[in-house]
Amino acid sequence: MYRLNMENNKFRALFEQAAVGVAEIDSYSGQFITINQKYCDIVGYSEEEMKTLSFQKLTHPDDIQEDLSNMKLLVEGEIREFSMEKRYFHKNGSLVWVKLTVSPLWSLGERPSRHIAVVEDITQKKQAEIALKESEEKYRQLVESTNDWIVEVDKEGKYVYTNPQVETILGYKPYELIGKTFMDLMTKEEAERVYEIFAGTIQELGKFERIENICLHKKGYEIVIETNGSPFFDSDGNLLGYRGINRDITERKKTLKMLDYLAYHDYLTGLPNRLLFNSKLQIAIEEARKKNQKIGILFIDLDKFKNINDTLGHQVGDELLQDISQKLISQIIEKAVLARLGGDEFILYSERVDSLQEINTLAQKILEIFLKPFTINDLELFVTVSIGISLYPEDGEDVHTLIKNADLAMYEAKAQGNNHIKLFEKEMSIRIQERMDLENRLRYAIERNELSIEYQAQINMVNNQLTGMEALLRWNNPRIGYIPPSKFIPIAEEMGFILNIGEWLIRTVCKQIVLWKNSGFTIPRISINISVKQIEQTNLVRIMKHISNEAGISLNCLELEITESVIMSQTEKNIATLDALRNLGLQLSVDDFGTGYSSLKYLKRLPIHKLKIDKSFVSDISKDSNGETIIRAIIALAKSLDLVLIAEGVETVEQANFLIGEGCILAQGFYYSFPLKPDHFFDRWINIKK
Ligand code: C2E
Ligand code: MG
Ligand code: MG
Repeated sequence: MYRLNMENNKFRALFEQAAVGVAEIDSYSGQFITINQKYCDIVGYSEEEMKTLSFQKLTHPDDIQEDLSNMKLLVEGEIREFSMEKRYFHKNGSLVWVKLTVSPLWSLGERPSRHIAVVEDITQKKQAEIALKESEEKYRQLVESTNDWIVEVDKEGKYVYTNPQVETILGYKPYELIGKTFMDLMTKEEAERVYEIFAGTIQELGKFERIENICLHKKGYEIVIETNGSPFFDSDGNLLGYRGINRDITERKKTLKMLDYLAYHDYLTGLPNRLLFNSKLQIAIEEARKKNQKIGILFIDLDKFKNINDTLGHQVGDELLQDISQKLISQIIEKAVLARLGGDEFILYSERVDSLQEINTLAQKILEIFLKPFTINDLELFVTVSIGISLYPEDGEDVHTLIKNADLAMYEAKAQGNNHIKLFEKEMSIRIQERMDLENRLRYAIERNELSIEYQAQINMVNNQLTGMEALLRWNNPRIGYIPPSKFIPIAEEMGFILNIGEWLIRTVCKQIVLWKNSGFTIPRISINISVKQIEQTNLVRIMKHISNEAGISLNCLELEITESVIMSQTEKNIATLDALRNLGLQLSVDDFGTGYSSLKYLKRLPIHKLKIDKSFVSDISKDSNGETIIRAIIALAKSLDLVLIAEGVETVEQANFLIGEGCILAQGFYYSFPLKPDHFFDRWINIKK
């Protein structure tokens, strides 16, 4: 029989000083019989207390079952020893993890009635293990719940792990990919391309960053993936494999592509925009330079497109532009690029042009599109175009010059009327420069005192009496010299300067009247030329009142010359303005009469007092019977409408005699007097009177 013999001192010391807990336990009751100090320390009870306890009492209920069944096997001799990890309750209520090893204390021929239990406190190790498990679980959850597709591959690149996200991104279940490589998920070409990049960046950076690759979804369509990852190694530094995070950037790519597209295309028509056109033309020019070829540039501008937008609305305008761009595209030859520059402007270049004839033919084809009406919402719309052409290298060697010159040619085409094509000529650019120069100088003409007024006498040809005078604007620029009104008035009208200039002129004339009055000169009516812009865009009635009040003169001494265009565009507003002016005492005359298309009907409605026969008819006298016939007709018309008549541009005695003979006795012209500076006018006419 072998029993734990506590009487043996050596054994006793070993038992007491052991680094592990050792206890003798009753096999049936589980009662502690002998316990060493370490055991007591582990569970927090004294030896005495321990002796009143059984292992079942100390054991955590979750572990008791395993413990008891082990004990049973042991007692029945099925096993010779068992070990398990289990939890005790410490006296203070906390849990203690122990590794328990139990073996029987045999008494020969008997079933063991005592067991020896050895326990090792593994609480710390266990807690660390639990923490590790918990954090592993956290990472697992993280890896599995992320939107990215996370993978681990072995050193041959075969997937050993992929998170479930792969199913959402590529349609595969994770297990379907195990053992495969990324190359199985791509086309052969893409796989080769990506492999090279992977290998290159790994070598260079030791990891892979932002590698874009196109994988195929299980259903076959393309998914753009961005891969970041790095290799991992064992403790000896041997490569084990790679871990990577793959992100589906298909949508992002699409958006970027879209933004890119929008930056270079016109949203309405889908045509390239100016930016794209310019850079393409740039490349085409470089090519043409090397190969000694020509490029033709067509600047295409729709005429009066604004009218369509204004009258039919932007919706119709937009649809029309789309339709036009479609038709333009259909005419475009393979080597040409068409773009919309915005608004109603299109531009096109054609490469490898052999001759001017070729580009002209293309322009003609485009023009033909506009000979037929466009149908938008059941509306038939006729649109005309103006096309300007420039050629590389003749008309410019860079993008900017070529486009600018085609644009200039287009303007000239427009000036010729609808549906015209015009080739660029060097003079156009000189003309435009001159015009811009004039514009700039005219802007400052008033404040720099460059404007003045000359007066031309209007006389009664029968008695040579001064009956009126016309104020004519003069512009002398120190640099350019004298610029005739026929040249600068249209610019002033277009630029809107005419409003200020017109007001300046009225004010200056009024001041002149006062000066002359003060010198004892009873002036007849002075007529002032009024631009249609002044009637339409300013409150002319208020201005006239204000200025005459300022000067202290009556408006009876002024006459306003309007053109037939005012009569033709007679809106109710214009008529009201003219009526109001007339009511202020002003007289109204129609200048250059006969050159416009004003009809009798229109004339009758307006408060007109006088017609001025245009000088072109007067100059026809004794040269062209048509002119004479027109003069007779105008005279008859004036009589029937009870209007005063005056002939402009009378230069010869023959003209004067003809007019007198026909019954027109008032005249203005070089034959009687040139337009004169105020002082000269005074000398000429007052002195004569004296
Ligand atoms: P307009 O109102 O018909 O003025 C008469 C033009 O005929 C003046 O030219 C005058 O110098 C010119 N003229 C007069 N007698 C003869 C003649 O016997 N033979 C020839 N060949 N010409 C003669 P000008 O001063 O060059 O003015 C040209 C046009 O400029 C004017 O034609 C008028 O339409 C416009 N204009 C002149 N001053 C003003 C102004 O203050 N405001 C506006 N809006 N237009 C003005
Ligand atoms: Mg006039
Ligand atoms: Mg005139």
